[in-house]
Amino acid sequence: MRWVLVGASTIAGEWMVEAIRAVGDEVVAVVSGDPQRARAFAAQHGIAHALGDEKDYPALGVDAVYISNTNDKHEASTLFAAANGCHVLCEKPLATSLASAVRMVQACRAAGVVMGTNHHLRHNGPHRVMREQLRAGALGQLVAARMQHSVYLPAHLQGWRLDKPTAGGGVVLDIAVHNADSLAFLLGEYPVAVCAMVSNSGMATGLEDNAMSVWRFASGVTASSHQGFSTPYADTGLELHGTQGSLHGSGMMSQQPSGDLVLVNAQGRLVLPVPRGNLYVACLEHMHRAIRGEPHEMADGRAGIQSLAVALAVLESAHSAREVRVADVDALLAG
Ligand code: NDP
Repeated sequence: MRWVLVGASTIAGEWMVEAIRAVGDEVVAVVSGDPQRARAFAAQHGIAHALGDEKDYPALGVDAVYISNTNDKHEASTLFAAANGCHVLCEKPLATSLASAVRMVQACRAAGVVMGTNHHLRHNGPHRVMREQLRAGALGQLVAARMQHSVYLPAHLQGWRLDKPTAGGGVVLDIAVHNADSLAFLLGEYPVAVCAMVSNSGMATGLEDNAMSVWRFASGVTASSHQGFSTPYADTGLELHGTQGSLHGSGMMSQQPSGDLVLVNAQGRLVLPVPRGNLYVACLEHMHRAIRGEPHEMADGRAGIQSLAVALAVLESAHSAREVRVADVDALLAG
C-alpha cells in the first residue's frame, strides 16, 4: 500500500515510517503545516514528496493515510482522507470531543474505507498472554484490575501536551485512552462509570499532568487507572486479580515491546514467557487484515471512540467531583 503521513510528528519519525516499511508498504509523502519541516522530515526519512497542504496528496495516488498531527486536527484530516477513498490509521485520542470522533468513524464507514486507531499496547506480548490466561480461566472470577501508567514525558515532547487545551493536551486524553483500550482488549468490555481526581505537579500549565480514577464495569469488575507525566522513576504495570489467581504485569505500558508477567496462585509464582515484537508493526499487520476483510485485532474507529469516551468521562468526573457514566457509543453512532 502507498501511505501518506499527515503530521511531521515525533511518533511518525520514531516509529511509524519504519513500521510501514516493515510490512512492505511505501511512504509516499509527508504533510506538515510548515513546508520547511515537511522537507526536513522527508529528507531525513527518505520520503519522495514533502507537502505543505494535505489537499495535494490525492494526486499522488495513495491508498492509506496515517494521521498524527495534534489531536484537534485529526477530524479534518480523517474526513479529507475518507472523502478521497483512503484507509485511515489515526492516532489516539481520535479527537477532542465525542461528536468529532463519531463524525470521523461515520465518514470512514460511508466511504467504505477501513479506519484504525493506533492503540498499540493491545499488541504487546504481556497483554496478549494476559488475555490468553484470562480466557483460559487461570484467574477464576475476575474481581479487579490496576493500571500504573505514570511516566516521564520526555523533554522533546514537553510542548502542546502540557499547555494547549485546544490541541487536546493533558495527561488524561494522552494516556487514559491507552488504559481504556488495554483493559477493553483484556476484558472485552469498557467501563460504564468512573470517579476521578486530577492534579498538576507543576510540569503542565492550565492542564492536568497527573490523574487517578476508578472505573466500574457492567460485569462488576472495578479497575484503578493512574496516568502521569512527571514521575521519572515510576514503573508501569497492569495487574488482574481474580478469585483463583493474579497476573502481575510490569513495565508493559510502553512504546517498546516490553514487560514481564507473573502468575501468582495457590501453587506459587510462575514467570510466564511473553512474545516480543514491534507493536506498531503489529498494528499495521492487523490493519492489513482488516482491509482484506479477514479477522483482525486492530483497534478500529469504534474502539477509538470508546477509549475517548472513557477519557472524557474521567475529565468530567474530576472537574465535577462526582461519578460520571461513560457515554453509550452505540447510541452515539446510531444517532
Ligand atoms: P509532536 O508534537 O511530535 O507532533 C505533533 C504536531 O506538532 C506535528 O504534526 C507537527 O505539525 C507539530 N510539530 C512537530 N515537531 C514540531 C516542531 N519541532 N516545531 C513545531 N511544530 C512541531 O507529537 P507526537 O508525535 O508526540 O504526537 C502526535 C500524535 O500521536 C498525537 O495525537 C499523540 O497523542 C499521538 N501519539 C501516539 C502514540 C502511540 O503510541 N499511539 C505515541 C505518541 C504520540 P505539522 O504536522 O504541521 O508539522
